[in-house]
Amino acid sequence: MEIRYVCRHCQSVMGVLNSTSVSEVQLGFHSLTLEERQDIIAYNLEGGMTVKLTCEFCREALTANPELSLISSPLQ
Ligand SMILES: [Zn+2]
Repeated sequence: MEIRYVCRHCQSVMGVLNSTSVSEVQLGFHSLTLEERQDIIAYNLEGGMTVKLTCEFCREALTANPELSLISSPLQ
């Protein structure tokens, strides 16, 4: 299963994990609420997963401009 980490703000790909054995528990997704999971995780047609996070650059931008945090990730 391919797990792609993408910044939800600038859409840059932060990393790609390719694993057949990784589980949602290992990824920590089980601790998220259903609402958070639906917001953060998207399944694609190939059976892979896209996880929307905030990259370091955007995190710094949000720190400098807190008003932008209205559209920020609950994972921050
Ligand atoms: Zn970003």
